[in-house]
Amino acid sequence: LTNPDGSIGETIYGQMTKFAAEVGAVNLGQGAPGTEPPDELIAATEEAMRAGFNQYAPGQGYPQLLEAVGAQRGRDFGQHVDPDEVLYTAGATEGLTAAILALLPPGGSLVAFEPFYDSYPAAIAAAGGTLHTVPILPDGRGDFAPDWETFDRVIAEVDPAIILVNTPHNPTGFIFSAADLARIGRAAEAVDAWVLSDEVYEQLVLTDLGHVPPAVAIEDSARVVTVSSAGKSWNTTGWKIGWVIASPEVRQAIQTVKQFLSFTAGGPMQIGMADMLDGDSQFVAENRASLRARAEVLVPACRSVPGAEVSTPRAGYFTVVDFSALTDRDAFELNELLAREFSLVGIPVPALCRQGSPAYEAYRSSIRYSFCKSVADVDKGAQLFNALG
Ligand code: PMP
Ligand code: GLN
Repeated sequence: LTNPDGSIGETIYGQMTKFAAEVGAVNLGQGAPGTEPPDELIAATEEAMRAGFNQYAPGQGYPQLLEAVGAQRGRDFGQHVDPDEVLYTAGATEGLTAAILALLPPGGSLVAFEPFYDSYPAAIAAAGGTLHTVPILPDGRGDFAPDWETFDRVIAEVDPAIILVNTPHNPTGFIFSAADLARIGRAAEAVDAWVLSDEVYEQLVLTDLGHVPPAVAIEDSARVVTVSSAGKSWNTTGWKIGWVIASPEVRQAIQTVKQFLSFTAGGPMQIGMADMLDGDSQFVAENRASLRARAEVLVPACRSVPGAEVSTPRAGYFTVVDFSALTDRDAFELNELLAREFSLVGIPVPALCRQGSPAYEAYRSSIRYSFCKSVADVDKGAQLFNALG
């Protein structure tokens, strides 16, 4: 949960962004890109605004976007998706919340991997359900692994209505393999649970490992609900163009909830983004290469700090640095100290865990740093780490 005392207050991302500005530190916290979307996307969106797409869009989203999302999933992942199975949402955040509100009964259980994106516990609380977690832990070689023994035990114990998987995973960059996902699918089938899949980093795999959507790896794909968004791939986190993919009946149930959250949003951006998802743009490939280059600046700089354990980001925006060999301080104290003395702010990883859980303890002194920031900020951050070293 967001606050160390377990309450839900302002998100850790909002808090850390303010804190960095207050102390004048380099902000490698919030995963908000420091680079811009492509001109062609801005032009297509402007054209949509001038063409009159300025009022309420249809509740399901504009047909152009629903079709484009289906085509993109087919092209990139071999997932067959009909437009009838797609719902526009105001970012992945709204898609996740609407899906949880629609599919988690009051008193029901949801199992998620930990650390987790901070909107999950808030949505589960709003649904009147309970969150149970399975840690994804450092393997000691710069990578991570889910604790499968705990997974099997927790699923058997809590009989969840939903298993939530985030692949590629924030903050570790861990990519679930097809075999991992098939295992999750079998577990879901055994207890008749939905698999809710958060794939916002689907396009940002930085290594040769491919992203496999759970809806492709899991045999009974009708139980999979996919959530993704354009924000991370297209540097448009402020536009909130996201989507849910589910069977028509489940899509309709989620849409029924969604209509009373935002009703609809982002009309002209839906049209602009639909234009980009046709596969002609090179932008996402360039963005991936640029992120890889920024990671290659930041990660070695973090590794220059003797004793710091630095993760190799396989996907996404982040590297996780474990300072526990260097200090007894927890990540909250350490982040504050590094901000005040070295002008550097990240996100304490325990803020993405449940207080006192095995993951919370494992990441007690770990801080997440974002390399999606501007080249100048990533360079500044790297210089500060080199100076620390
Ligand atoms: N899930 C994860 C794992 C995230 O890191 C984020 C942050 N962007 C989201 C969901 C929310 O995505 P959106 O901005 O599209 O709401
Ligand atoms: N998803 C982004 C991150 O993990 C932040 C989103 C937010 O600020 N709510 O940093």
